[in-house]
Amino acid sequence: MTDCLFCKIINKVVDSEIVYEDDICFAFKDINPRARVHILIVPRKHISTIADMEEGDEQIIGHLVKVAKEIAEKEKCKSYKLLFNVGREAGQIIFHIHLHLMGN
Ligand code: 5GP
Ligand code: ZN
Repeated sequence: MTDCLFCKIINKVVDSEIVYEDDICFAFKDINPRARVHILIVPRKHISTIADMEEGDEQIIGHLVKVAKEIAEKEKCKSYKLLFNVGREAGQIIFHIHLHLMGN
């Protein structure tokens, strides 16, 4: 997906403040943070939205949640929100799945 901003961030064509990466996902600070800790956890696989998940993708999505939990612990978040916006009307702007971790 050459035209996808988050694919470019994952491939380090576009700079970001990287927090974590592994074979399945990539995590970086949101450019416009709305909490003390606001990190986006994205799969390396380009999937546009949760609504476009295919058979087997639940493994990837489960991994994003596990990584979010680990980052929240590392960042010493007392409590936090995990959010997927799904579709434009729900506020999704970037069409590459990303899990928002917002913690204080
Ligand atoms: P959405 O509204 O699609 O769920 O969330 C997209 C998020 O990506 C927003 O919170 C926005 O601030 C963030 N964002 C947009 N462009 C960039 C960028 O170039 N770099 C980073 N780090 N975050 C971005
Ligand atoms: Zn992408």
